[in-house]
Amino acid sequence: MKFNTKTIHGGQEPDKAYGAVMQPIYQTTTYAQSTPGGHKGFEYSRTHNPTRSALERAFASLENGEYGLAFGSGLASIDAVMKLLKPGDEVISTNDLYGGTYRLFKQVFEKFGIKFHFIGMENAADIEQYVNQNTKLIWVETPTNPMLHIIDIQAIAEVSKKHNVLLAVDNTFATPYLQRPLDLGADIVMHSATKYLGGHSDVVMGALVVKDKELADKLYFIQNASGAVCGPQDSFLMLRGIKTLHVRMQRHCENGKKVAEYLAKHPKVEKVYWPGFEDHPNHEVAKKQMRDFGGMLSFTTKNNDYSEAIKIVERLQIFTLAESLGGVESLAGHPASMTHASIPKEEREKTGVVDSLIRLSIGIEDIEDIIADLEQAIG
Ligand SMILES: *Cc1c(COP(=O)(O)O)cnc(C)c1O
Repeated sequence: MKFNTKTIHGGQEPDKAYGAVMQPIYQTTTYAQSTPGGHKGFEYSRTHNPTRSALERAFASLENGEYGLAFGSGLASIDAVMKLLKPGDEVISTNDLYGGTYRLFKQVFEKFGIKFHFIGMENAADIEQYVNQNTKLIWVETPTNPMLHIIDIQAIAEVSKKHNVLLAVDNTFATPYLQRPLDLGADIVMHSATKYLGGHSDVVMGALVVKDKELADKLYFIQNASGAVCGPQDSFLMLRGIKTLHVRMQRHCENGKKVAEYLAKHPKVEKVYWPGFEDHPNHEVAKKQMRDFGGMLSFTTKNNDYSEAIKIVERLQIFTLAESLGGVESLAGHPASMTHASIPKEEREKTGVVDSLIRLSIGIEDIEDIIADLEQAIG
């Protein structure tokens, strides 16, 4: 099956009971047994639920993996990966991380004796100096948020394999439409399915996909033992969202390119961060590992003025000023006053999050309306 067909049919077949073409919502916690242990593969819905199982197969199919797992949020899925580790283990992670992932690593798992190294990974060779016998996991996000750095997954996978360390990739920004980390050598792919996979800003959910049976069994054990699963209603909505992933992504990419090109020519814009530009530092890697360049971009204005940036995002009409990304609607955010507000100014500026940085998640509205909105807001 090719990718577009997988979004519609991957892991799914008509319901066995009545032939329902869409996966029914099995709103049940438990399942009748004819004799103790005599069940049809389902005992209790924390462990398994038929709607969630269909979704988990769909996740696996999209990422060219063997085993999928669905969780109550993206962070719950990362939490499950971290529980593969034990005190004394070390993790090497990208430094331009989603804020919630950084918080989970620093404020929850550091307490349990896990050591984190946050480093730039644009150059894969830089990782080697942080690897020692305690290193158990490399955590990669690409493209990164909000600076749209690109990291070479295949090059990192060579390092992880050489040292027998697990490689996990947060594939939220790219989606399997654009990039499939397991094909590039990663062991675990993770999603905040809340974003592009669901695609309609109506479900919070996380996903993991792996190829290896032993690793899958450990993760299924944690999923059931810790219990951060998603419900059948949300699983149904996610399955429905995924069916249009390929058409949505195609339009996100088309619109993203047009907005990037429009902003790059705007007299008030200083810099546009978008991996499709030839002068993006890792443009060649993006071209190699991604099918297209996605619908996420960030930009700064020439005077780099904090209050002017806030005025721009307040003036937007088609774009909604909001956290999150990846929905059909265009969203705008001002990291310095929103997602990165708690980080001291000097610290955030070191990573490029300057006062005027605005992050856009380009939706699938008519491009003329999107650009006209930016035109009136930037002035
Ligand atoms: C949103 C997001 C997460 C966290 O996912 P939730 O579903 O909000 O828990 C993790 N990584 C990235 C890149 C995200 O954008």
